Amino acid sequence: MERDAWAVVAELERAGHEAYLVGGCVRDKRLGRDVYDYDITTSALPEAVQALFPHTVPTGIKHGTVSVLTDHARYEVTTFRTDGDYEDGRRPHEVVFVRSLREDLARRDFTINAMALGRDGTLHDPFGGREDLENKIICAVGDPFRRFEEDALRMLRAIRFAAQLGFVIEEETLRAITYESQSLRRISRERIRDEWQKMLLSAPDAAIPLLQQTDALRYVLSRPQTFDVRVNDPWGLGIDPWLLAGRWAADAPRDFAVRLVVVLRAVQTDSARMEKTVQDLKLSGEVKSQIRGAWQMQEYGDPRRWSAEQWRQVFYRHGYETVKRGCQAFAALEAGKTGKRDFDWERLIEEQAERQPLWSLQDLAVSGQDLLNAGVPTGPMLGKMLNRLAQLVLREPERNRREELLRELTLDEGEGG
Ligand code: ATP
Ligand code: MG
Repeated sequence: MERDAWAVVAELERAGHEAYLVGGCVRDKRLGRDVYDYDITTSALPEAVQALFPHTVPTGIKHGTVSVLTDHARYEVTTFRTDGDYEDGRRPHEVVFVRSLREDLARRDFTINAMALGRDGTLHDPFGGREDLENKIICAVGDPFRRFEEDALRMLRAIRFAAQLGFVIEEETLRAITYESQSLRRISRERIRDEWQKMLLSAPDAAIPLLQQTDALRYVLSRPQTFDVRVNDPWGLGIDPWLLAGRWAADAPRDFAVRLVVVLRAVQTDSARMEKTVQDLKLSGEVKSQIRGAWQMQEYGDPRRWSAEQWRQVFYRHGYETVKRGCQAFAALEAGKTGKRDFDWERLIEEQAERQPLWSLQDLAVSGQDLLNAGVPTGPMLGKMLNRLAQLVLREPERNRREELLRELTLDEGEGG
């Protein structure tokens, strides 16, 4: 990966352009963190980049970004640019290509993201990123108030990086976030969702207090008014429920749906608010149903007290993944409330799953065809019969045998007839 990235840089240089690794990859390399994507900044114009490499995609050509595809990966190559004028705190209107690396670095959000690395090993760091990295500080490049007015999302990025990396936000930068947080109103839900997702998956225990302190929380979970009403100390632990929400979510498995459910439950959100939050976050259909499923599971109470039949019903209705997520959320909330963490939830779920006789109608010992052969007419009746047999098997799993179920069928018909 990194070798290929340097090969792209070398190729640009060979053609007479300047080129550097830049941004997140330089930051993460210095931190010794895994690097997943390499961004390259160059003096070459997009057309020149396209001409130079056999496989390119004009990913963000208007913003000067061309993706260069190699055998192993893709590299985003972006022409030195500034962001031109901003349209009320959102993305820039137009970008302006510039001649110098320094100008390009100046448009970047934080000092630790505004460093470029040359092939000869030179670190270009006009804003003191290296020092901030060493001191674990998130500091805006230039005047933070202006930078957040340009693009309000940067405020959430600051909080996200602070949480993810375990850094603190520099004082003036933090003050600017608190002051400007209401301009997050203008940011698209999708961009907010992506940052919130990264916060939840990395360190919600660090992110939530920052979101709360800067009042950015209300823009992340939107419909702020619905979260204003706060039951004081709902868990009787003498701790602000939002703080608990962050801690409990951090202790839950790294899964967005599980952690979101933990947060919402911890602050005692009701179903209607949960639903609004999920809608507002513009999540995919799949993630929405994961959340709704895991949420609903909370209503069934402590899984350790479910009967064998309840387990069968729940698995059948929700499926393995949802039950697992629901139990994980329950476990995290329980551990938070009681401080006890010794129960082996994984084992409970696996043991119950192994015993599950029926995950879908496919697992019935009879098929739709068998029913047709036995004289059941096609149409809704067939589905109804299959479901009835499924319920029977969920109650009495030992009866999931072909003759047994077919016999049940004739009994049924006898009754009905
Ligand atoms: P990660 O990929 O881990 O989220 P990153 O720093 O690589 O972190 P990207 O969103 O991939 O973040 O952006 C790459 C680089 O582009 C950043 O390091 C930063 O220099 C610049 N950048 C990204 N978003 C913004 C923004 N909203 N304002 C200013 N600069 C930005
Ligand atoms: Mg990146």
